[in-house]
Formats: sequence, structure tokens, C-alpha cells
Amino acid sequence: MPEVRARPPSVDSLLGQPRFAALQDEFGRIATRDDLRAVLSGLRAGNAPAPGADGLAELCRTRLRALTQPSMRPVFNLTGTVLHTNLGRAPLPPEAIRHIAATAGACTLEYDLDTAGRGHRDTHIEALLCRLTGAEAATVVNNNAAAVLLVLNTLARDREAIVSRGELVEIGGSFRIPDIMARAGARLREVGTTNRTHPADFAEAIGPQTALAMKVHTSNYEIQGFTAAVPEPELAAICRAANIPFVNDLGSGTLVDLSQWGLPPEPTVREAVAHADVVTFSGDKLLGGAQCGCIVGRADLIKQIRRNQLTRALRLGKLTIAAMEAVLRLYLHPERLAERLPTLRLLARKPADITAVAHRLQPELARALGVLAQVRVEPCASQIGSGALPLRTLPSACLAITPATAGRGAGRWLERTAAAFRRLPAPVVGHIAEGALRFDLRTLEDEAGFLAQCAAIAPATAEGGW
Ligand SMILES: *Cc1c(COP(=O)(O)O)cnc(C)c1O
Repeated sequence: MPEVRARPPSVDSLLGQPRFAALQDEFGRIATRDDLRAVLSGLRAGNAPAPGADGLAELCRTRLRALTQPSMRPVFNLTGTVLHTNLGRAPLPPEAIRHIAATAGACTLEYDLDTAGRGHRDTHIEALLCRLTGAEAATVVNNNAAAVLLVLNTLARDREAIVSRGELVEIGGSFRIPDIMARAGARLREVGTTNRTHPADFAEAIGPQTALAMKVHTSNYEIQGFTAAVPEPELAAICRAANIPFVNDLGSGTLVDLSQWGLPPEPTVREAVAHADVVTFSGDKLLGGAQCGCIVGRADLIKQIRRNQLTRALRLGKLTIAAMEAVLRLYLHPERLAERLPTLRLLARKPADITAVAHRLQPELARALGVLAQVRVEPCASQIGSGALPLRTLPSACLAITPATAGRGAGRWLERTAAAFRRLPAPVVGHIAEGALRFDLRTLEDEAGFLAQCAAIAPATAEGGW
């Protein structure tokens, strides 16, 4: 005879009850059943008494809500870093978003409508890139790290690539020139010193094993003081004489002269193309497009690069191609670029305009936060981000939030307040510096949306719930 024990209700009998029927309606039968099983086995494992059917249903609802809420969510990036890698870098213009939506179904990704034959996915952006950079040919891959990998693997596998010791860059986390070289199967030949590299250093290093010389943009640092780098025209001449390609990893790479909007100058791709045989740069840094890595330059070398089997592993999807096609088209009309391309619009924003936004929002935010907090308008410095123009900041204005009464515990108060803003339906992300939670308003365009969020934070203040 089997032993008789009091057991929690079976999954099947629970699922038959109305409160679980409602859950199944909302989240589906299988998800609800699996979740209920997981909840029950968790309770059993923890020897916890099973709550009643109502309690179980509530537990399941909370868990299923968390499961079905999107994980990737839009946020207000008020961190002061315009191209914030963790927050998705460049915001796309509506033209790109519309083009992504329009081509998300069946589209001419690799299809030639004239011949009904196979096309190439590069065709949608190659002509635009060539026109905008002066390059003979172009191809595009998943990101700039992939672009560098592919170029080195194609042109320098089992041979040497010469790089100045002043340019052995590490970009955020895992992109390091020596490691990428190794992964690409190229041997790194370092020349010069950290602070000074001369033309003779390159010329003397070139030998039968040399595949190419490479210049890497020092995107996130600057070497100052007693320094020397080989000017691009000179390095190009050395490479030409030795009959090896000159590759330039520009990193951010801008397609237009940024100084016309009062921004710090950054070498343009066109300038780099005038000297280098191959130039690589990101699509989602200063260019303001989607994540990708552009490779432009000599037609014979691009052809070789395109034939590398790795391109199949690194190729772009149609959504990115759609975004890039739309963004590059905006560059055909440079007079309106600063108005239409969000990245440039935000970078070029005048400090006085940002300060005006801050003064408009300050009373509203102060009212929403109530008596526990103080809100002031303060000047601040925005960063461009993503390793673009690392040492230059842009004067801006922020809302600085501090506890109404200073004292011990202020640090924790700031952390809690920042967390409360991050928990809003449309999370607001700022940063804590100099004793205040700061929202840099350079990147705020949707003032009404921001204010609606601020209103939602008020109840937490009233309850002292931070
Ligand atoms: C940012 C950067 C990269 C990497 O580009 P991703 O598009 O982030 O892969 C490579 N080289 C340089 C010099 C960079 O600045």
C-alpha cells in the first residue's frame, strides 16, 4: 500500500482553477504550467509551506510578468556621454528607423530586380560610402573590431604587420591590437617607442616577411610632451616604395569636418583615404549610424578582403544595412545634417540652449521630488564617448539633485535616488559626481516624456521609499 501523505495540490488540478485560467489566457498554457511547476518545486526544495492557490497564482503572475517584459528597453541617456557604448551608442534618425521597418520583411538584400539574379548585400551602401569618402571600393562587416580582424587576416596572415609602439591600443574591454593581430594570424612587428616613432623605424623594419604597415587611431588616450609620430603622407610613401599596403584603423571615423559645428577636429575618412590603401571605422560612433565596421579603400584589396571566407561569418544583417543606407543618404545633404542626424545634433547643441532646457525643467523636477531633495541647474562637461575625441569635452548643463539635508548617508541617498530613476517605466540614467545625482541635458530631446517620468517618481518621495 502506498503511504498516504498530505500533498500540495497537483499542477493539473491548480491549472483547472479560474485564477490559473486567467494566467494561461495572458501568458499561455505552457509557460504558466512550467512556471507553476518551478514555483512548486522551489517551495518543496526550500521546505517552505505552500501558499494557497491565490498566493501561488500571484507568485506565478509576478514571475511571468518579469519573463515577458522586454529585456532591452529604451532609456533616457542623461549620463553626459553622448555615444555611450552600454546604452547603444548612436541614436538612429527616424529615416533609418522607417527604412528598417520598410525592409524588415522580404526585401532586395541580395537580389537584383533587373536580372532576377543574385545581388550582393554590399551594393546598398558601397556606392554611398565611396562617394562620401573618395574610396574606390567598400565593404561592411559586423563592427570595426571585425573589420580590423578581417583586414589583417586577409592581407597579413602568417606574415608581419608593422605598428608603432605608441599605437598598441586597447579599446574598452576586449579589443587590443596585439590580440587581434594574433587572432588574425598576423605577426605583430612593433617599431619605435611609446612616445616617439620615426619614418626610419618603419623603413628599417620592412623586409621580405612584411605584409603591411598599420596606423591605429589612439581613440581613448593621447600621448603628450616629447612625442613624434610618422605623418600619414610619409608612411604612405614608405609603404608605396616597399610595395606593401598601408592600413589605417581610424576607429570612430567621421565623414564630415566636425569643426564647422564648433566641435573638436577629428580626422575625416576622406583625409585618411587620401593616404592609406585601406581604412577601417565604426558605423555607430561619430558617423551616427548602426553597429558595423566599414572597410574602404583600393578596389583590388577590397576584392581580396571580400573573398575571405571569414566575411560570411562577419557579414551584416538586413536591419543594419537598412539603417546604414538611410544614414549615409543623410550625408548627401550636409547642410541639413546637423538637424537630421541625432548624434551630430546632440554633439552640436549650444550650451545656452541646454541651459534653457535645464531652467525649464528645474522647477518641475523639484516639485516632483518634493521636500526631500534639492534640484539645481549647474554647468557640466559632456563627453563624446566611444573613444571619439577622448580628451575633449563639450560644455553643457545638468540638473544636479542633492538631498535637502546634507550629512552622513547622503551617498546612500544618492544611490537610492539614482536607482529609483532607473526603475521608472522609461528608465532615466544619470551619473553621480561631486555629491550630486546629475542629469546632463545635452542628450535630452523629449522633454515632455522626461517630465511624465518625473511625475511618476513622486509617490516614492511621499513614502520616503527610496
Ligand atoms: C572603437 C574602435 C575599434 C572597435 O570598433 P567597434 O566598432 O567597437 O568594434 C577599433 N579600433 C579603434 C581605433 C577604435 O576606436
